[in-house]
Amino acid sequence: MGDREKTVVLKIGSSLLVDDLTGNLRMDFLYHLMNDVASMRARNYRVVLVSSGSVALGRRYGPTLASEDLTLPQKQAAAALGQPALMAAYRNFAFEHDLRVAQILITLSDFEDRKRFVNAEDTFEELLNQGAVPIVNENDTVATKHLRVGDNDRLSAKVCHLVEADELVILTNVGGLLDKKGKLVKRVETLDESIFALARGASGAGTGGMITKLLAAEIAVASGCRTHIASGSCVNPVLGAIDGEREHTVIESNITPESARHLWIATSL
Ligand code: GLU
Repeated sequence: MGDREKTVVLKIGSSLLVDDLTGNLRMDFLYHLMNDVASMRARNYRVVLVSSGSVALGRRYGPTLASEDLTLPQKQAAAALGQPALMAAYRNFAFEHDLRVAQILITLSDFEDRKRFVNAEDTFEELLNQGAVPIVNENDTVATKHLRVGDNDRLSAKVCHLVEADELVILTNVGGLLDKKGKLVKRVETLDESIFALARGASGAGTGGMITKLLAAEIAVASGCRTHIASGSCVNPVLGAIDGEREHTVIESNITPESARHLWIATSL
């Protein structure tokens, strides 16, 4: 195994990035997030972001895109309008830390096609070797069936598999998973039905809810990636979770990314 650099995937929900009322980017969040990304890079972590926000941001750029009920093509248009604005914001904050960001648009079906999977894997690897921070979003223009809130949770877990991530941090607007008494579940050893039962009925407006986060965690831990579900509305949204200084939910994996990869190759041949 050796001294492989650790890889972390950060999943960023729309509600953290874009203010619900004004439709403006939440600069304070971006500031704290990119500070942490820079600290993680300084610790030699490879960092990948999976960021939503294009639809929420793009609504302001079309005269009829602000309404609640958008058609699928309208959502796709909003995503196409919002995505460059989102990347511009990330790029500006990254610039302050002398970091380079790279845009990757991908769909879930790309992961099912072996050739595309391998091509994407090579591109990620090269970007990470170049010290860049890939920022992934779903390619909403073509991902018709998938353009619904919550998919980026699943996408982030698939990305963990692709880059053999050690940690997935799902940043959201709640502090983690709560038990029946409303107390934070700090550590999950086995993600079984009793855990999913806790999330059922809990809905997080605009975040895809806790169920999709647990489903994402299920995919991530199966590829050897420990998963954190934590609030993003704080000063060190990522470091606080990774270093365990802020209470949140940790879902453990009992395998390493390498052994998960070997198993995957063995079973898919
Ligand atoms: N790709 C969509 C966006 O950038 C969001 C999908 C999601 O949040 O799950 O707005």
